[in-house]
Amino acid sequence: MSYRSEEITKYKTIVKCDDCGREREISTTPTPLGFDNRMNGALQNRYSFTQEGGVFKNYCSRCQEIRREAKES
Ligand SMILES: [Zn+2]
Repeated sequence: MSYRSEEITKYKTIVKCDDCGREREISTTPTPLGFDNRMNGALQNRYSFTQEGGVFKNYCSRCQEIRREAKES
């Protein structure tokens, strides 16, 4: 019998809300996700991907709602 073992590294990408910290798993991939896939993954999980003062912010759907209401009142 002959065997060999290999260690497989995987990367789990999780988007985190910049307001409440709620996390959501986007995907697990053999290599870390690039910018576009991270953006698309956030949007697919109903997280925002907006630029604010030169940095990108992710907000979960609940915090987007709260921010929208705060703007309107
Ligand atoms: Zn949130």
